[in-house]
Amino acid sequence: MLSGFSITLTSLTFVLVLFFYFRSKQHIESVELKIFERLLNINIIGLVMEMLCNLSIRYMSANMLITTIINKLFLTYFIGFMLTLFVYVVSVCIKKENYQKNSKSIKIGAEIAFLVLSIIDLILPIQLSTTDKIYSYGPAVSFIYIISFAIIVMCICLIIKNIKNIRSQNYIPLIFYIASSGIVGLIQSINPELTLSTVMESLTLFIMYFTIENPDVKMIKQVEAAKEAAEKANQAKSDFLSAMSHEIRTPLNAIVGFSESLKEETLTPSQLEEVNDIIDASNTLLETVNGILDISKIEANKIEIINETYSTEKLFRELVKLSEARLGDDKPIEFKYHLAEDTPKYLYGDHIRIKQVILNFLTNAIKYTKRGYIEFDVRNICRGNTCRLIIKVEDSGIGIKKESIDRLFDKFDRLDNENSTIEGTGLGLAITKRLVELMHGKIIVQSIYGKGSQFTIVIDQRIVNDAIAHEVEEVKEENTTINNDLSSKKVLIVDDNLMNLKVAARLLKTYNLIIEQADSGFKCLDLIGAGNKYDLILLDDMMPKMSGKETFKKLKEDSSFNIPVVILTANAITGMKEEYLQFGFNDYLAKPIEKDELNRVIKKFLDK
Ligand code: ADP
Repeated sequence: MLSGFSITLTSLTFVLVLFFYFRSKQHIESVELKIFERLLNINIIGLVMEMLCNLSIRYMSANMLITTIINKLFLTYFIGFMLTLFVYVVSVCIKKENYQKNSKSIKIGAEIAFLVLSIIDLILPIQLSTTDKIYSYGPAVSFIYIISFAIIVMCICLIIKNIKNIRSQNYIPLIFYIASSGIVGLIQSINPELTLSTVMESLTLFIMYFTIENPDVKMIKQVEAAKEAAEKANQAKSDFLSAMSHEIRTPLNAIVGFSESLKEETLTPSQLEEVNDIIDASNTLLETVNGILDISKIEANKIEIINETYSTEKLFRELVKLSEARLGDDKPIEFKYHLAEDTPKYLYGDHIRIKQVILNFLTNAIKYTKRGYIEFDVRNICRGNTCRLIIKVEDSGIGIKKESIDRLFDKFDRLDNENSTIEGTGLGLAITKRLVELMHGKIIVQSIYGKGSQFTIVIDQRIVNDAIAHEVEEVKEENTTINNDLSSKKVLIVDDNLMNLKVAARLLKTYNLIIEQADSGFKCLDLIGAGNKYDLILLDDMMPKMSGKETFKKLKEDSSFNIPVVILTANAITGMKEEYLQFGFNDYLAKPIEKDELNRVIKKFLDK
């Protein structure tokens, strides 16, 4: 049979291997690993002391005092190990943040307990068997058994109480330890010279090492590098999309602009139809570009909700107008609109985003309905100063299969029904969902395949007192018909792209203005510097060498400069308008320039 000494020596060899292996690796900071390291150190000391005890009883029995001291000190090892194990159990049982908060007091408590119990153990007498079976016994040893038993019971209670919080891999070594303590206790009562407790503790440490969550630093670094690369790639994608959007918008600007002006010429009906088709196709392309831009912004968390006071009636009326224009007269569809009379006149929220969301529902209803009706219904529940808007868009269209409803909001997912011939990218609802989430609202979809669909959004907005809102509204509720003769007004258009200059000039032609052009920020500065006077400057932002913003900054350096400057940009990311206005520009026009928007700007700055 193996002697106690050789078992301990073997165990020490294995534990030392574990010790050096553990030390050779880089670790991330974790409570479990720290306690594990402490247990490992204590166990090595224990194994060494156990061998010393064995040797001292065997060879130094003449000097009983030294032998007794060595054996008693060895017993204190068990107290140290058991208490540290108890701390480990506490650390895995309570929440990490709670443990970190109380770690100091837990540590001090364990140290005091160690001191007190060790002193008691050192005082208690010990007997040594020096016959062919070498072991110790007596009150000091029994005391250790009692302490170990008490700590194990406490560990079991803690584990049972917190069983839900503990991850399975954390209690595997503990269960092993508790179960094997019983077996070891039984073996040692028959063969007291077989000191298996320390060996069992070494074994527990092996199990613990492989069960503690132990992601090594190298792996974490790799993950971090991968994350960084992914973020860079995402940024590159956003930049690319932004640049592409600009590149697509510039020629689109020319297409839409020229088509719009062509409409004012005398055209044959078929020519007019073709011009309208060009405008429709360009608008679809524009919406697609905007959708891609929006989704990439949402994914990069760059979309902001911009709240401001708005008129509910005006918002919903605009939506009806847009829907009716999109619906046209070709389809046998009745468009029903109902706005509850008690809807507050003014609300505070992101009306641009709300408009985008509802317009998407309305556009889909128009796209996916061949006959019947489309109902746009707005109700509300108001409490205190909060108004819960319940906006419903219902149609008698193709409907959506039950199993497809969950996929409805996935990006680029177009349901494989009969809609494959209908234009679309499958982006609209994905954007809608994220926007509604950002505004803390909810979307409810109900549909019967073949019969129709109902999309409802529920969104809370703050009610604005009519008096406060009136001021805002006055600015917004402008009449856009031009009343005065503008032939004496001078407008400077600044754009590096000659085609854009041509389009802008063509669009402005109807106002009978004096138009001058500059193809760079530098030329603009020269013209102003030379004392030329203008009533309005339309300034493109994205120009090489000197951007619109830089040009504007230079213009503003002259404190007497007071010409209104409207920024023109193809960078139509939402939120951009606010950024430009904050920068100091008097207004903002997105490219392709919309006729209504241009009219608004001309009216605002020139029709006085
Ligand atoms: P798109 O319309 O560009 O394909 P959306 O994200 O707006 O993208 O819609 C995703 C899909 O949901 C559509 O392709 C269509 O199959 C389905 N869908 C959306 N609205 C309706 C509706 N009112 N009726 C029937 N199907 C709809």
